[in-house]
Amino acid sequence: CGIIGYVGGRPALPILSTGLANLEYRGYDSAGVALSGEALAVYKTSGEVSALQSILPESTDHRAGIGHTRWSTHGPPTDENAHPHTDCTGRVAVVHNGIIENYDALRAELSDEHAFTSETDTEVVPHLIEDALDAGADPRAAVEEAVERLEGTYALVVTIAGVDELYATRQDSPLVVGHGEDGTFIGSDVTAFLEHTRDVTYVQDGDFAVIDDDGLALYRDDERVEPTVERLEYEAD
Ligand code: GLU
Repeated sequence: CGIIGYVGGRPALPILSTGLANLEYRGYDSAGVALSGEALAVYKTSGEVSALQSILPESTDHRAGIGHTRWSTHGPPTDENAHPHTDCTGRVAVVHNGIIENYDALRAELSDEHAFTSETDTEVVPHLIEDALDAGADPRAAVEEAVERLEGTYALVVTIAGVDELYATRQDSPLVVGHGEDGTFIGSDVTAFLEHTRDVTYVQDGDFAVIDDDGLALYRDDERVEPTVERLEYEAD
């Protein structure tokens, strides 16, 4: 339902936590975050963003992470079904808006070697990425390979342990990047990060976005393209 991500010079946790609160208006039943670093730290729960905030640490040094408010489509609103979803080793975390239509077939294919911990359509994604990583793909290629297997609608943001980039892509579900003074944001809509920046790039269907300390690198049809940045105007009263 709602997505927020951040990479930059500031502590990520308050940015993610406030971003999720900003997204509450969309409606949701669960919330969670994954903080990026050598090991990922994942916190998630059914219920309100305030319930998530009550289990978050007071402060952390993480400078990147992803967050989600879930509106359940596959699997009831339980703690396990809340996003982010992780692979077996916990080195890949994914937030997803939309529906992976072919999740049943993918799950059947993966189930021999992968222990699933949720009932969501989403959880196939981190396991697919894990398989690609295990097969030797570099992190970005692993995410691209996994996404190629997906049918349906999705906005996805991925963090991988030990990798200082976030990966994002979409199909029929919105994603927008915010270019800030002290970091780069990604959200399912601009309200997620509007207090930080109004300079935005709308991600198009099929685009592959890489976000790191240098900002946004955008790939379209495997070619790097210059992102179009637009400045949102303040709404007049
Ligand atoms: N289909 C996913 C789920 O049920 C994502 C739902 C959403 O867009 O929040 O977990």
